[in-house]
Amino acid sequence: MQRKYNIPIFVPHRGCPFDCVFCDQNRITGQIKETSPEDVTRIIEEYLKTLPREGVSVEAAFFGGSFTGIPIEEQNALMERVRPYIRSGRIDGIRLSTRPDYINDEILDNLKRYGVTTIELGAQSMCEEVLKNSNRGHSAVQTERAAGLIKNRGFSLGLQMMTGLPGDTPERSVHTAERIIALRPECVRIYPTLTIAGTYLEKMYREGRYRPQTLDEAVSLAKRLLLMFEAADIKVIRMGLQPTDEINENASVAAGPFHSAFGELVEGEIYYDMMKKALEGCGEDAVIFVAPSEISKAVGNKRRNILRLCRETGHRIAVKGDKEMAKREVRAIAVKTA
Ligand code: SF4
Repeated sequence: MQRKYNIPIFVPHRGCPFDCVFCDQNRITGQIKETSPEDVTRIIEEYLKTLPREGVSVEAAFFGGSFTGIPIEEQNALMERVRPYIRSGRIDGIRLSTRPDYINDEILDNLKRYGVTTIELGAQSMCEEVLKNSNRGHSAVQTERAAGLIKNRGFSLGLQMMTGLPGDTPERSVHTAERIIALRPECVRIYPTLTIAGTYLEKMYREGRYRPQTLDEAVSLAKRLLLMFEAADIKVIRMGLQPTDEINENASVAAGPFHSAFGELVEGEIYYDMMKKALEGCGEDAVIFVAPSEISKAVGNKRRNILRLCRETGHRIAVKGDKEMAKREVRAIAVKTA
């Protein structure tokens, strides 16, 4: 199987006319260094040196803003730099992220010409009230329309959703996930909302008009969503951190469920549930077997799962690897103590 790699090229959307409440772009305009066509070549060259030449699939990934919202000549100048690598077979295509209302037939025609293969849309929510409260400036219907156009043209579709936006609830996030699943994207990203210093969301938070999710709430909801997407055979390629953090690496989080290993926490929770079930009725010290590559997720961040299970069962619990076992498989064996 080919290993997939993205070469990340950040193209901050300078002068974005929108003002999403969670985004600090407009506040840091002028501090962001523009990405030039020369930068694209340099980044690709540097990255390719680190990748194997055989058995890999590589995409140049324009992330960090709404790519199709920047002037068309600039889009083309950036994508033009990828062309030689696509011709020589070193890069297989281009992926980019953009807004649902920055997609139409003409835009897609242009992207096709330059070898774009994957388009990710920042859907964020499929609940109109949440979109409105977040000042997104587009509707859920626009996301559905854009997703349809993208798929009909044969592009691979990615959708990004956020949880914990103003007015959002776990049920509304589940509703968003259901509508996203109905659009049949190839991949999804889940970003719990962070309150970045200097944003309108921070003002709402300080004035008591917005309550951020706690880390536990965000993890528990992301777990529910991850299982929904997996059951629908849709890959979740990222959980945690929101796009604006990637734009501004120095962004300071004023509040919200920030954790540098958020995805691991979510996976850990899934293992916790499975291990708890496997231990039901055991009533003794036990060893839990999982695939060797899954041990750290099963043990949990800072041994969180083991400590909880020991406390809850009153017994000693250990986790061991078993090469014969698959991902998300759990087997508990009681250990008789003298
Ligand atoms: S999230 Fe995207 S669309 Fe919204 S203000 Fe920031 S850059 Fe603009």
